[in-house]
Amino acid sequence: MSLIPSLNGFCIKDQEWHAENVPLSAIAQKFGTPTYVYSKQALSDAFNSYEAACVRPNGERRARVHYAMKANSNLAILNLFAKLGAGFDIVSAGELARVLAAGGSANKVVFSGVGKSTEEMTAALKAGVKCFNLESIPELTRLNSVAGSLGVKAPISLRVNPDVDPKTHPYISTGLKGNKFGIAYDDVIKTYQEAAKMPHCQIVGIDCHIGSQITEISPYMDALDRVLDLIKQLDACGIKIHHLDIGGGLGISYTNETPPAITEFANTLLNHIESKGFGHLEVLFEPGRSLVGNAGLLLTTIEYLKPGETKNFCIVDAAMNDLMRPAMYEAFHAIVPVKSNSNAPAVTYDIVGPICESGDWLGRDRSLAVEPGDQLAILSAGAYGFTMSSNYNTRGRAAEVMVDGSQVHLIRARETIESLFANEKVLPD
Ligand SMILES: *Cc1c(COP(=O)(O)O)cnc(C)c1O
Repeated sequence: MSLIPSLNGFCIKDQEWHAENVPLSAIAQKFGTPTYVYSKQALSDAFNSYEAACVRPNGERRARVHYAMKANSNLAILNLFAKLGAGFDIVSAGELARVLAAGGSANKVVFSGVGKSTEEMTAALKAGVKCFNLESIPELTRLNSVAGSLGVKAPISLRVNPDVDPKTHPYISTGLKGNKFGIAYDDVIKTYQEAAKMPHCQIVGIDCHIGSQITEISPYMDALDRVLDLIKQLDACGIKIHHLDIGGGLGISYTNETPPAITEFANTLLNHIESKGFGHLEVLFEPGRSLVGNAGLLLTTIEYLKPGETKNFCIVDAAMNDLMRPAMYEAFHAIVPVKSNSNAPAVTYDIVGPICESGDWLGRDRSLAVEPGDQLAILSAGAYGFTMSSNYNTRGRAAEVMVDGSQVHLIRARETIESLFANEKVLPD
């Protein structure tokens, strides 16, 4: 079985990996490495796969995508999605500022996260976001008082913890009882009743988000049924819900996983909501990974090959500071040589970076026929790649480019070394 996921926007032509029509070696030559490479076509296609379900054939909109931008918040990507009609799911005032800078509109923003500060609430109320997704009574109380002091009403939704097992990695599952996220299922009704008493809050929705990299539809159906049941109970108490936000979390294929196709997934959920008699609800999807994950790769160059006693190492110029997922979750990314090299024998390597940590690895036990100076592409790196990167070991963060047909656009310049300590100061003598 192939370990390489089937990709849109990236393929092998004339024995070399290309991003759309551009050979990756040309990108490495012009922009250096490590560099994140995104395909505009792949990004647009993923978005439009959701839209195909959100907008019915008669043109009527039943649902909207609110891109969970923590997956990849580059302004060019936000701008592309905004132009295609996306709203955004944000988790900080910084992300709100990015949406506005990228030409997105605040009235299509939902504000998620367990720890919103007073300053963040103020910024979001002033901008006029569509909804605050709240996760506790203290947060509700604070928002009520911030909104009161600004003389406005805050539109709110409560994040329900539906207590379903999304069958994913424990670090990225969020809808189980032991998680920090959401309001416990049994407390939801009474929390809504509290919210209904808050003079500066207006209940508009209900939301849940059960985890990430979910490759089956059944956990969503379970969560959906539990949330629809709550909506019915709320209605009976006189609390009207206008929108249902079913979160994100749809998985992608990193190797041989087989998640449902996006349009089929979205249609199944929308049809289920309708068949249960909730066709009047506005529905929100908050996908992150499934929009960007397979639309990006990380291009890197081999520095050294280091044979070891029990392992052989392929040392590259990208590292855990550029792509954290392997070190953090033992995540698998397919890694391919950009060009085939007929001079080199196939050897099994661990692909590692230059950082001083044994956890600094990008792939393990991969058979590669390569030499120093060859380039590798680390696939499926568009989500939680650049956004989780850091400056550990005083390494500037990678450049980012977006390919559109035969054109390559630099969308983030490589960080200079001087910029990394520009905000630091030594003590006076
Ligand atoms: C991270 C997150 C998402 C997106 O998750 P993906 O797995 O990237 O689709 C959606 N909603 C909320 C509240 C999140 O925290």
